[in-house]
Amino acid sequence: MLNFTVGPVMSSEGVRAIGAEQVPYFRTPEFSALMFENESLVKRFAKAEEKARVCFMTGSGTASMEAAVINLFTEEDRVLVIDGGSFGHRFVEMLEIHQIPHQVIKPAFGCGVTPEELSAYDGKGFTGFLVNLDETSVGVLYDIRLISDFCRRNGIFLVVDSISSFLCDPFDMQALGVQAMITGSQKALACPPGISLIVLSEAAVERVYRNRPRTMYLDLKLALKNGERGQTPFTPAVGTLRQIHARLKEIEAAGGVDAEVARIGGLAAYFRQKLREYELPFTIVSHSLPNAVTPLATRDGVSAHEIFVTLKDEYGIWVCPNGGELRDKVFRVGHIGALEKADYDKLLDALRDMQKRGLL
Ligand SMILES: *Cc1c(COP(=O)(O)O)cnc(C)c1O
Repeated sequence: MLNFTVGPVMSSEGVRAIGAEQVPYFRTPEFSALMFENESLVKRFAKAEEKARVCFMTGSGTASMEAAVINLFTEEDRVLVIDGGSFGHRFVEMLEIHQIPHQVIKPAFGCGVTPEELSAYDGKGFTGFLVNLDETSVGVLYDIRLISDFCRRNGIFLVVDSISSFLCDPFDMQALGVQAMITGSQKALACPPGISLIVLSEAAVERVYRNRPRTMYLDLKLALKNGERGQTPFTPAVGTLRQIHARLKEIEAAGGVDAEVARIGGLAAYFRQKLREYELPFTIVSHSLPNAVTPLATRDGVSAHEIFVTLKDEYGIWVCPNGGELRDKVFRVGHIGALEKADYDKLLDALRDMQKRGLL
């Protein structure tokens, strides 16, 4: 199997070996020590402030998105949210469900937000901002500096879904004044799904302790309290947390977050350059590409979904299909997980073969 989706992705041998082991009991000092190390490495890689905390949630990325929304905002807030694809739209739906007043910014397809679009909201009394830094569904990386400046000058509490940008694109939580950032185990952390996590600034921790969300499982106060002793309130995905630990140590040993960002960026650049070199009949649809993924539109009359199916069934290669309106128009090639340039050569060979067969 060769997997170029955006999650679950391919895991390193070390991470996979842990998956074959028995899952240990976890109310132990050994597991607490592992969790403390997980917290400190995540904080370092997110470039979070010293007093930041990390909540490890058992649940996919969406669980942490919802936990962030209901623990950090209330009906008293006015939240700006960017709805540029299916993940941005998920935030909008959460704000609706939890009756948090909000205003939606909807960028044009494949585009980020412009300074003009944002400055229209200057001085309008907004208190919160939600953005999916890499809107993975369409492969658009928003301009986080622009958003950070806007939030700073308006005193707005900035919450970032970094689920597919953590470890992929440069990010400095403290320098950008981001109050909470979210990521998940099955994206660039390249572990099985099951864990998502939220890094909270000191101000965000205070906000969590002030708020009273109507939830038990997603109440971050419980996660924070238990985290003080390296534990979680309920049985977590223990195996996945052990795999995350191994993976974080691998990243540290290979030079840390900046080296990992450079590695993933290098793979993305390699693939994009070869696409041009071979003149494959695809158009990159994003005007602001992230490192994690390349979104490709097919020629008229060629179904993107069919390309996904043929690659899977006839070549044993997985790319990432799109859903909804984009199903037959766009597919995506991911650059996260245990992949190397030689793997991209295999994908490119398969695509060139399909082109010869008249399938592109
Ligand atoms: C993958 C992803 C999510 C979360 O999806 P889950 O399936 O719940 O893990 C959220 N936001 C972004 C930007 C993502 O890439």
